[in-house]
Parts: sequence; structure tokens; C-alpha cells
Amino acid sequence: MSTTMHDAIVVGGGPAGATTATLLAQYGRDVLLLERESFPRYHIGESLMPHTWFTFERLGVLDWLEKSGSPRKHSVQFVSTSGKVSQPFYFFKTIKHDWASTWQIQRSDFDKMMLENAAATGVDVRQGAAVRDVLREGDRVVGVRTESVDGGSATHHAKVVVDATGRDALLAGKLGWKKRDPNLNKIAIFTYFKGALRDPGLDEGATTVAYIRDKGWFWYIPLVDDTVGVGVVAEHDYLYRETRDPEAIFWREVDECRWIREHLAQGTHQGPMRVTGEFSYRSTQAAGDGFCLVGDAFSFLDPVFSSGVYLALKGGELAADTIHAALDAGDVTAATFTQYEQDLRHGLDSFRQLVLAFYDPTFNFGEFISQHPDLQPQLVDALVGNVFKDLRPLMDALAAYTGPARRPATATG
Ligand SMILES: Cc1cc2nc3c(=O)[nH]c(=O)nc-3n(C[C@H](O)[C@H](O)[C@H](O)COP(=O)(O)OP(=O)(O)OC[C@H]3O[C@@H](n4cnc5c(N)ncnc54)[C@H](O)[C@@H]3O)c2cc1C
Repeated sequence: MSTTMHDAIVVGGGPAGATTATLLAQYGRDVLLLERESFPRYHIGESLMPHTWFTFERLGVLDWLEKSGSPRKHSVQFVSTSGKVSQPFYFFKTIKHDWASTWQIQRSDFDKMMLENAAATGVDVRQGAAVRDVLREGDRVVGVRTESVDGGSATHHAKVVVDATGRDALLAGKLGWKKRDPNLNKIAIFTYFKGALRDPGLDEGATTVAYIRDKGWFWYIPLVDDTVGVGVVAEHDYLYRETRDPEAIFWREVDECRWIREHLAQGTHQGPMRVTGEFSYRSTQAAGDGFCLVGDAFSFLDPVFSSGVYLALKGGELAADTIHAALDAGDVTAATFTQYEQDLRHGLDSFRQLVLAFYDPTFNFGEFISQHPDLQPQLVDALVGNVFKDLRPLMDALAAYTGPARRPATATG
């Protein structure tokens, strides 16, 4: 058994972990990143939000994205249950900047690039290294224990440990902090097609959200290599009402949704049907002495507004800045992460209020804006990801439809 010492250990090499590690290395910190898988590996979460641009700029990866061949996403459009297609919501109509368009990314390539960028910045990246446990001195986390693919075990020590293990939520699970969101009890069934129909011109890379009965929805995301990602999200009881066979459920819902059916008609189905349950959750705390949680390891929110990768990137930025200052101050206790946690919760609560409105049967974006034209800029802010600011007037108006967005249980209120 070997042991080593670092400024920070980041567990998990998805967007949250890679961002935290890269930015800490940019600050000159000694960072070890431990990733269980060997990249490239499959991952869901392909549609980005425009506000990711700012983190990409900081990470120095915009050039890769520009050249990656990833379809440009200029808009989102909504299709009603009757098949009526909304005006595409073009980001460039309100944003006069490069970040007015974003990308639909193939996660296997994107995540590999992010990890390579971390390594190029100086992070010690180890793949095939699964963290099995954290090491403690009293209540303080001081390191981790890994197990490699060949069964070898090692301990690694650091001043701070960052849990970026995604939906595995290593620490929130071990500490009993992970709480499901009772208002967002959905499942998703998803797969891929080649050669399916793409809308022309500017709309070629658009995300389409097509409603199904009972406020469920399909996503339709054009990707590289003429591939389209398609998934259906709805309440567990609705989707499983006749059968639990994902293939049968997917095709039954396609049959009922004209826009999706017509777009898939010319496509060839590729790959397995995948299922994700236990949809939305949040940890009651975002940090403890010597550690913090980032990205899905802290919280996962229903993906209808494509907020997951953005929150992973932004959370990674906030975590790296907080840890850098904490290491300078020589204080990595839980209290150091108070502002970090407040910021994370603020961003998440804003998205969650929007998600609750989306699922409310009385809510409609068009009607909302005609009733509250003054709130259009704030709604645009929320839809592009600019949520780490005061959006109270918008949140109050949305709450009039849905009631106040009560969070899942928190330890800090
Ligand atoms: C159905 C569905 C659709 C989605 N669609 C979108 C979308 O369109 N747009 C969007 O932005 N987001 C979407 N998301 C969300 C998105 O997938 C996540 O929010 C995002 O991947 C979070 O990044 P992360 O770095 O926190 O976690 P991950 O990307 O999950 O990375 C975590 C990493 O940690 C590693 N790991 C786990 N446990 C250990 C361990 N013990 N030791 C070492 N390594 C470990 C894993 O192998 C993994 O590589 C969707 C999610 C779902 C479920």
C-alpha cells in the first residue's frame, strides 16, 4: 500500500471534477484527480446552456469546442401535445455576444478533452482508480482510499478532498445527506438514432422539447456524426403504467407524439435503450471539514432546461476559487464553504423554480411573458444559465403559479 500528500484530491473526472482540478492547477496548486473509469466513456448530458461559455473561456477549451464539429445550439423550441411548434427561442435575440450560441456535445469526447486539459494544466490525473472510502482524523476528511482495476489499494492524503463523483454521490450517500426531491419524481428512457430528421438552417442544432401527456416530455438533441439523442421523461407511474420494458415504453410514447414520430421516421435506431431513475435529489450539506461536494455529487435537477453540465462547470469554478482562498488562509473547515454553499443553492433554487413551473399544468411560457413583459429579460437570464444573480421578481412571479419552491430538506435552512 502506497501513500502520497497533495493540496487537493478531486474524486471523479466528469465536468465538475475536471473543472475544479484544472482551475486549482491554474492557481499553482498540487492536485490529484482520481477517476474510476478509463476515458472515453459513455455519459448522458449533451445539451449545453449558453452561460457555460464563461467557464470554457477560463479553462481555455473554447478552441476545442469550435473545432469539434459539435452542432451549434442557437435555440430551444417547444412542441405542444397537439403538435404545435413554438417560435424557436433564439439566444442571439437578446444576447449580443459570442456566447449567444452554445454546443450539443458528445460527452465521451468532451469529457476526455476536459480531462486531458486538466492533465495539460498540471493535474495528476489517474484513471481506473476508484475511490472506495475517505480517510478521517476525527470529523475531518484528510484523504481517500483507492482501489485500482487490478485490485491494488492505495491511500492518498490532501488538505482538501472534492467529491465530484456525479450521481454516485459518494460522500452524500455515505453520510446520509442525499435526499430525493419529492416534487420531481421522474424517470428517463433514452437512446440514439442515425440519419433522423434535422430542422434546416439555424435550427439544425436546436434542442426540441416535445410535451407528452401528463406534462412529461421528449428531448431531441442533434449531435455529431448525424446522430440524434432522444429521450422521454415522465412520472414513474405514467411511464410504467402497462409494462416495465423500456423498449416498449419508448416506442409507445413515440407513437403518441407526432413531432418525434415524424422526425425519427427516416432514422436508424442505434445502441441500447437506457433508463435513469431517482431523478432529482440534493444533499443536505455541500461541505464538511476538509471536503466539499460539487456537481451531481451535491445535487441533480431534472434536465428539462439542460442545467446539469452548466451547474457542474460553475460549481467547479466556485469550488476551486473557494479552496484556493481557503488554502491561502490555512482554514479548510466547513465554515470556509458557507458562501460556496449559499451560491450553489441560490443557482439551483432558481432553476428548480423554473422546472416546477414547466411541470405545472396551468403554466405556459407565452402566456407568462404576455402577462409579465417586464420579466422577459430575467426569464432569458434563467434560460441561458445566468442564475447566480438576484432573480427575485421572476421567482416570485413563477411562485404565483407553483407556490413557493420548497427545497428538499437542508441542514442549513
Ligand atoms: C437523463 C438525463 C439527461 C440529461 N441531460 C442533460 C443535458 O441535456 N444537458 C446537461 O447539461 N445536463 C444533462 N444531464 C445532467 C448531466 O448528465 C450531469 O449534470 C453532469 O454530467 C454532471 O457532471 P458531474 O461532473 O457532476 O458528474 P459526472 O459527469 O457524472 O462525472 C462523475 C465522474 O465520477 C466518476 N466516479 C464516480 N464514482 C467514483 C469513485 N468512487 N471513484 C472515482 N471516480 C468516480 C464517474 O466515473 C464519472 O466519470 C442529464 C442527466 C440525465 C440523467
